[in-house]
Amino acid sequence: MFQSLTAPIGSKIALADFDPGYVEGEWTKKSSKTKIAENTATSRQLAYRLYAENQRAILLVLQGMDTAGKDGTIRTVMTGINPQSCQIVPFKQPSHQELDHDFLWRIHNAVPRRGNIGIFNRSHYEDVLVVRVHNLVPEAEWRGRYERINDFEKLLVEGGITVVKCFLHVSKEEQRERLQARLDNPDKRWKFSKADIEERRLWEDYQRAYEDALTYCNTVHAPWHIIPSDRKWYRNLTVSGILLKTLQQLDPQFPVCEEGLDDLVVD
Ligand code: AMP
Ligand code: MG
Repeated sequence: MFQSLTAPIGSKIALADFDPGYVEGEWTKKSSKTKIAENTATSRQLAYRLYAENQRAILLVLQGMDTAGKDGTIRTVMTGINPQSCQIVPFKQPSHQELDHDFLWRIHNAVPRRGNIGIFNRSHYEDVLVVRVHNLVPEAEWRGRYERINDFEKLLVEGGITVVKCFLHVSKEEQRERLQARLDNPDKRWKFSKADIEERRLWEDYQRAYEDALTYCNTVHAPWHIIPSDRKWYRNLTVSGILLKTLQQLDPQFPVCEEGLDDLVVD
């Protein structure tokens, strides 16, 4: 059965309705490789125009449980794009200085400049996810944040930033395997922390918090995409396709050059 990447605005999102292992049609790991390469090659050309145009920007927000593949997605979809036109920002636990400001202060400061593609590896959504699950602020405060977030994203969109939000949806079993793989592989162990096990115990709380964030912040100006992410290749195929489509819709143009260049010869 076909599974949409988006949900109708205003409808209650239940993650159980979205299969993390879903694959559309006849796609295979092999056929995805060519398509991903095509997607990123075309995105590279369009990103070059976006940079030259220097008017608008794209902000790709990546959220997902531990091991959902935020890092891997960034590696794939940004491959080949001029690093000078990319801004990739990971959000960790806020510093003391950041905590001395409102929760959007550090976020606004990290928004991509005109001409750029920015990626948030985690984002302002942590302030209604980890913060809610661990009661880091009173409920009355985090409850008000969904509306703050919608207003903030509207401000960005009206300022010429296309906000593309992707939730990388993995199953609990897939997470178990990926965490175990991190433990077992000496090259991956650095990514593992004992706290990951504690967080995993809160899986259900996180899923409820995600469902609310996906429901309340699914807006016309910045809708959520729910990316089936149990297969890494399918996740990469999907996100690279969304980025390409976004660039195609923006259709960036080279700026108009000075007049009188046609007959000019450099001596
Ligand atoms: P990682 O993405 O694995 O490097 O981990 C970053 C950690 O920072 C995660 O455990 C996040 O939940 C945490 N984090 C990010 N933003 C916030 C926030 N606003 N408040 C508390 N913890 C956060
Ligand atoms: Mg981690």
